[in-house]
Amino acid sequence: MSMKKTPAAPTLRPSDPAPPAPKLTLGQPLKVAALTVGKLADFDPGVQQRQKWAEHAAPDSASVAAAGALNDDAAPPPEPSEGAMARARRIAESYSKKSGSFLHPDPTVTEGVLLGLGRHIDELKRPLCPCRFYPDKQAEIEHRTWVCPCDDMQIYKYCHCLLFTNEQGLPITEHLPEDHEGRRIWGHVPDPDPSKGRALKDRAAEREEERRRRKS
Ligand code: SF4
Repeated sequence: MSMKKTPAAPTLRPSDPAPPAPKLTLGQPLKVAALTVGKLADFDPGVQQRQKWAEHAAPDSASVAAAGALNDDAAPPPEPSEGAMARARRIAESYSKKSGSFLHPDPTVTEGVLLGLGRHIDELKRPLCPCRFYPDKQAEIEHRTWVCPCDDMQIYKYCHCLLFTNEQGLPITEHLPEDHEGRRIWGHVPDPDPSKGRALKDRAAEREEERRRRKS
């Protein structure tokens, strides 16, 4: 199968205007990353932050492009059922409260992630994270690592989809290992409520071992 080459993340200069926000379609929640490039200016004053997001989006885009999911000619995936969307929304709302985090302040970002979760609920009966590419979704369900709220969220309170964030819409990175990509991209973003969440924090060593073994 031929792989679609993913363009490199754009290099932004301080004089550049904010990149235009690509249109979010119901069939492509994974374009949330691209959409957010244009939205970062809402909560970050500098070009640096937009550059960070562009770099962050690139790995996900590469994975999705490899699967053909970013091909605009491809048939859009089916709309999630109302029941699946309601379940996705319940998960998001209850877990943001339980974990002491906030749903992203831009509703288009939140809705994009919920659409992906809803679609996976219909397809797999489980809310598999929509912001990643999986060679075998059923096998991934058995690992449990990326069933929402995923291990990174329950261990480190880090949500790379930006569904669960701080009040300004930034991912919480305070608890991540120093060499985690989230820390490299976003720097140190403090946990707004350290008294909540991180139910699996004792499993950090196990998680890092898994990350080395499975690159997941
Ligand atoms: S990164 Fe984790 S917590 Fe965030 S949407 Fe994906 S599975 Fe859920």
